[in-house]
Amino acid sequence: MNSLQRAYIGLGSNLGQPAGQLRLAISALAALPETSLVAVSSLYASQPLGPADQPDYVNAVAALDTRLAPLELLDCLQQIELQQGRQRKAERWGPRTLDLDILLYAQQVIDLPRLQVPHYHLQARPFVLYPLAEIAPELQLPDGQALTDLLQKCPSAGLQRLCGSALDGNAVTER
Ligand code: ATP
Ligand code: MG
Ligand code: MG
Repeated sequence: MNSLQRAYIGLGSNLGQPAGQLRLAISALAALPETSLVAVSSLYASQPLGPADQPDYVNAVAALDTRLAPLELLDCLQQIELQQGRQRKAERWGPRTLDLDILLYAQQVIDLPRLQVPHYHLQARPFVLYPLAEIAPELQLPDGQALTDLLQKCPSAGLQRLCGSALDGNAVTER
């Protein structure tokens, strides 16, 4: 049996009631085999990357303890995306009901065609770094960089913490 590993998952949605999509996804993460949900950040609103003519995003980060191997975890995440109506389109960074990315998997560095970990844009994305810091303030990346140092280099402009956590069913009003 694989040993238990801590993984961090970035969640994002900007279609179909994004906060509700994130809450549904959190339930699906908690129900994964050989996995337990350890922590979930608040929800954050952020402006879209790429094409600007799309709704703002709602983002969060979750911590999991899992015995799933990295590619097994990716398969599970992609299945959850599809279950929640994710359509893969040619346009990069276009609108989507759900995006689930593996940000970190223990202290592993993975460079496979289907999976790069740490997630390649982790350091430049406030909508990833700030929710991550909320649930894992002491975190260090595999290259030894402290999350606190990354935060200092990544302004939180355009990021808004919404009241209520992704686990709270009522606190966030859908737009
Ligand atoms: P970005 O990667 O810039 O956040 P995206 O999340 O919108 O963009 P997707 O369309 O969700 O990109 O995924 C494209 C491919 O990225 C997936 O098919 C998957 O194989 C690959 N991928 C590579 N590394 C990761 C990772 N760490 N987490 C999730 N998917 C990854
Ligand atoms: Mg993504
Ligand atoms: Mg993705």
